[in-house]
Amino acid sequence: MKKVIVIGAGPAGLSCAYELSKRGIEVLVFEASDQIGGMSRSFDLWGQRVDLGPHRFFSKQKEVNSFFKELVKDDFTLVNRQTRIFYDGKYFQYPLKFGNVMKNLSLITIFQILWDYLIQIINPIKNPKNLEEWISNRFGEKLYTIFFKNYSEKLWGIKCTQIDADWAAQRIKTLSLIQAVISALFNNRSNKHKTLVDQFAYPKNGTGTLYEKAAEAIKKQNGEIFLKTPVQRILIDDINNHAHGVELNNGSIIKADHIVSTMPLTYLVKGIKNTPLKVSKAIDSLYFRNTVLVYFEIDKKNLFDDNWLYIHSPEVKLGRITNFRNWCPSLTKKKDTTILALEYWCFEKDDLWTQTDNLTIDLAKKELSHINLISKEIKIINSKIIKVPKCYPVYETGYQENLNTTIDFLKNIKNLFPIGRYGAFKYNNQDHSILMGLLAANKITNNSQVDLWQINTDTEYQEDGKIKDVLAY
Ligand SMILES: Cc1cc2nc3c(=O)[nH]c(=O)nc-3n(C[C@H](O)[C@H](O)[C@H](O)COP(=O)(O)OP(=O)(O)OC[C@H]3O[C@@H](n4cnc5c(N)ncnc54)[C@H](O)[C@@H]3O)c2cc1C
Repeated sequence: MKKVIVIGAGPAGLSCAYELSKRGIEVLVFEASDQIGGMSRSFDLWGQRVDLGPHRFFSKQKEVNSFFKELVKDDFTLVNRQTRIFYDGKYFQYPLKFGNVMKNLSLITIFQILWDYLIQIINPIKNPKNLEEWISNRFGEKLYTIFFKNYSEKLWGIKCTQIDADWAAQRIKTLSLIQAVISALFNNRSNKHKTLVDQFAYPKNGTGTLYEKAAEAIKKQNGEIFLKTPVQRILIDDINNHAHGVELNNGSIIKADHIVSTMPLTYLVKGIKNTPLKVSKAIDSLYFRNTVLVYFEIDKKNLFDDNWLYIHSPEVKLGRITNFRNWCPSLTKKKDTTILALEYWCFEKDDLWTQTDNLTIDLAKKELSHINLISKEIKIINSKIIKVPKCYPVYETGYQENLNTTIDFLKNIKNLFPIGRYGAFKYNNQDHSILMGLLAANKITNNSQVDLWQINTDTEYQEDGKIKDVLAY
C-alpha cells in the first residue's frame, strides 16, 4: 500500500486523486483555499451560477472524456459556441472566418492583408523565435497587427517580440489563408457534424461540477480532502533525493511515499532546501500573469449573443467579457438579469492588482460604455471583484532554458510529480491538467515511463474532433 499526498484540489490534483483512490491507494489532498476546483471552480453569485471567466471543456483524449463522463454522467448540455472579436467598433467571428473578415474590413486593408501574406509566403522568417515572427509567418504582418498584437500584449503585459514562439505553437490554430478561402467557398456546407470548436460539453451547474463530483467520489473511495490547508514546502531527503513528506503552513509534517504537486512551480522549488544556485536563478526568472475579474449583474436579458467576446480594441484595458446567460439556461436559475465577467490582466505590482475594488469597478463601467456594449439606460445592479493570482505562466523568450534547468533538477526527485497549469508552468486548459493528473496516477501505480513534462495536447488536433465521437452515449 502506498500513501500519496496531492497538493491542490484543481483539475490536475483531483483527477490524480480520483484515479489513485479508485485503485485503492491512500490519498490525502491538501487545498489552500476553501473551495474545490481551483481556477475551474463554479460558484453561486446573486442567485445564479458562474465560473471564473469562460470555461469551455474540450478534448479528444479518450481517458479525459471518460473522466468527464464517469463523473458528470448525463448532467451536461452541449453549448453552441459563439465567440467574436470586438475591434474597431466591429465584430469578427472567432475562430476567424475568411468571409466575415473580408466583409468587415475596407478594400485597402484587405489588399494590405493579402499583400503581406504573399510576402510572408515568398520570404518567410526562418525559425521564428517570438510571437510576432511566428504569427506574421502564418498570417502576414497586417493580419497579425489587427487580430493578434493588441490582444496578446494586453494579456501578457510584454511586447509580442518578447513572447516565446512556443506559446503560439501551443495555442494558436494554424490556419492558412488559402485553406480558409477554400473552406469558406466549398467546404463546410457539406460538413454536418459539429466539431469541438463549434460546440462543447458543459456541466449544467457550471464547469466546477466536474470537480465537485470528483471530490465526492474521492471521499467515497476513502480519500481525504483538507480545505484551507496550504502546503508550505516539500521535505526532501538530501542524501537520496527522496521526497518524504510535506510541511503544512501550520507547521505539521505529513509523511507520504509519493507527492503530486499542483502548487505554483516557483513556490515548490523555492521551498526546497539546498537548491543549487543555478536552479534558484532559473526559478527566479519564471513568472506569472494575474487576472482581475469584474462581475456585473445587469438588469437586462439580451445584451449580446456570444458566450464570450474578445476585446482587441487598444483604447481599453479590458480583454474579454463572458456572458453567462448564453451558456446554458440552468445557470441563470430562472432570473431575468445577466451576469457578465470582465477580464483584466496584470502583474502583482500593477495598480489593477493593488488598487481598491471601487476604482476597478469604475474603470470597468467606463470601458463597457466606451465600447458601446451597454447603453446609459441599462442598469448595473451588482458588482464584485475576484482576483486570480498566477493564472498565466509567462512564456517570455528564453523561459524554456530556465524551465529546463528547473525540470532537470526536479527529475532527480523520483517520487515528486509537479503537474498542472502553474504546477508545471504550462499554459494548460482543463483537459491538459486532467490528462497530467491521470497520467501521474499511472506513473505511481504502474510505474509507467511517460514523461509528464512532455504532455502537451495540440489545440488544433483537439478542436477538429467531432463532438458526436468524443462524447457519444
Ligand atoms: C479566466 C480563465 C479562463 C479559462 N478558460 C478556460 C477554458 O475555456 N477552458 C479550459 O479548459 N480551461 C480554461 N482555463 C484554464 C483552467 O482554469 C486551468 O487550466 C485549470 O483550472 C488548471 O488546473 P490545475 O489543477 O492545473 O490548476 P488550478 O486550477 O490552479 O488548481 C490548483 C489548486 O492548487 C491550490 N494550491 C496552490 N498552492 C497551494 C498550496 N501551497 N497548498 C495547497 N494548495 C495549493 C490552489 O488553491 C488551486 O485550487 C481558464 C482559466 C482562467 C483563469
